[in-house]
Amino acid sequence: MNKLIVANMKMNLNKQEIDSYLKEIENKDLSNVIFCPTSIYIPYFLKKNLTVGIQNISRFINGSHTGQISIKQISSLKIKYAIIGHSETKNEIDEIHDKVKLCSEHNIIPIICIGEKEDTKLEIKEKILEEQLDIILKDIKLDKVIIAYEPVWMIGSNKNIDTFTLHHISNFLKNLVKKYKMNDIMLLYGGSVNRLNIKEILSIDSIDGVLVGNASLDVYQLLEMIEVA
Ligand code: PEP
Repeated sequence: MNKLIVANMKMNLNKQEIDSYLKEIENKDLSNVIFCPTSIYIPYFLKKNLTVGIQNISRFINGSHTGQISIKQISSLKIKYAIIGHSETKNEIDEIHDKVKLCSEHNIIPIICIGEKEDTKLEIKEKILEEQLDIILKDIKLDKVIIAYEPVWMIGSNKNIDTFTLHHISNFLKNLVKKYKMNDIMLLYGGSVNRLNIKEILSIDSIDGVLVGNASLDVYQLLEMIEVA
């Protein structure tokens, strides 16, 4: 299918586990995978020439912000992507906008997470998503952007997304994003994707890939998903 997999490894795995993970994926075709490991492990992925994204960035460029990582530091490494606005970061919408703006100014491709907090009617989902994107992308020029539709209530739920809803929302989003006039926009779905449901999700034409959390920690499951994508 040639669709994209973004592996959001969150705050998981220790150094030994990362070593075995990297060993298992050696010599595999990973051209359609973006790995987002915990930041301290990024250099190990870069050393293997893998495509890497960071899980979050600071809103600030530099200075006294203990524990944060700035866009300048990221772009000084071979990191091309940044997940912005993941629900677990609890960022406010204006902060997400500022971070996407920083990406646009520093040649980093943002993977922008949007999604409703609770399951609700389709019209309400559409309204929420449009409001989020209108604020996040206001006055921002980006050549390439990745938008991840991640209904917050689906993340880590181990439930299967209803494919009728996903069809509807992904078509809606693909149409909606035309108004932001960006050249290259990819749409991902994220929320309890795994080796069993990935095929059905990726069979939806308007979905260009998936953002996978927990299932990406199991390297064998990841490899199975890559086969399908
Ligand atoms: C995520 O954290 O972005 C995510 C989609 O997680 P999971 O696949 O575990 O639901």
